[in-house]
Amino acid sequence: MWTVCRAELPAYVYDLTALRAHVVGIRAALPAELELWYAAKANPATPVLQALADTVDGVEVASGGELAHVSAALPTTRIAFGGPAKTDAELDAATRAHRVHVESTHELRRLGLAAAGRRTLVHVLLRVNPPLRVGPAALGMGGGQFGIDPADLPACLDIVHRDPWLVLSGVHTHLASGLAATEQVALARRTVDWARTLPVPVAEVNLGGGMGVDYTAPTDRFGWTEFGAGLRDILAAAPELRLRIEPGRSVTAYCGWYAAAVADVKRSRGKAFALLYGGTHQLRTPAAKGHDQPFDVLPVDRWDRPWRRPEVAGEPVTLAGQLCTPKDVLARDVPVARLRVGDRVVFGLAGAYAWNISHQDFLMHPRPAFHYL
Ligand SMILES: *Cc1c(COP(=O)(O)O)cnc(C)c1O
Repeated sequence: MWTVCRAELPAYVYDLTALRAHVVGIRAALPAELELWYAAKANPATPVLQALADTVDGVEVASGGELAHVSAALPTTRIAFGGPAKTDAELDAATRAHRVHVESTHELRRLGLAAAGRRTLVHVLLRVNPPLRVGPAALGMGGGQFGIDPADLPACLDIVHRDPWLVLSGVHTHLASGLAATEQVALARRTVDWARTLPVPVAEVNLGGGMGVDYTAPTDRFGWTEFGAGLRDILAAAPELRLRIEPGRSVTAYCGWYAAAVADVKRSRGKAFALLYGGTHQLRTPAAKGHDQPFDVLPVDRWDRPWRRPEVAGEPVTLAGQLCTPKDVLARDVPVARLRVGDRVVFGLAGAYAWNISHQDFLMHPRPAFHYL
């Protein structure tokens, strides 16, 4: 698909054309009234944000750093500010955002002070932790750490009603990560039904992200068509609501690859290992999620050493990196046709929660190269 010389590895390669086509496809599958926002924390690289800007309705940020970065990269795009444990400085900066997602009564009061200080109206979504059953999710978010307990909602409403600078626009939920379309629709329906029972008129419901990415089936995609049809039904039954989603992983995961050269191949205690010039300090996704990162082998035939080239063929191999920790494994016991020292390995599904969640400075290896196609 591309040629990279060994000296330029490890490298990240992003296909922005494919990213744009993917998000245009997502947009087309969704009801026109549904707002599609992008959660920047999945991949905040400026070229990625710029590739998405025309197709999404806004960008959700989760820190003051992301807010500053996204507003500089996309000065005319609407921004929603969320995230746990916001500082006073972040709440002050958040007063410029289109929406602020608030996580507690204390935070709501502090946001009111920031809004008064700036003499600006701030539109708030209360991030709630509704008592809803979530399907078999990879990562549940409703444990209580995030969001406001429903028992605290009356206190929140009271704070908003007494504060001339705060406007309550609605509620925000982000209850699970890694759900398939059927479960996402069921959860969206329960969330909307619940929001409509609240003792105040709720104009907006942000349903969050969490659309699943299957790392064991790299060509599969989240069922956007089924999800869009389900949301069309939900909107038809609740026409007064403005619904919004803010996926991250399912938008950018597919547009990124991480390529590394094979440094060594060896057999140890009966198992085959390939050591890469690279590792989880640059692609932490498999260590964070506990999966095998899908990969392809790009053979390199040139070999100029005077000894036999180390290789494995037709057996499972574990791909490990350059870090001095047994957690530095990118794929474990995965069968390969052949893998030799000097071949390249290209890991797919590396466009979200990949480079930017990695502990890049551990062991002080040089940074990878970045290519945006
Ligand atoms: C992380 C996050 C998202 C995006 O989740 P994905 O699983 O990447 O789709 C959306 N909303 C909130 C509040 C988040 O924390």
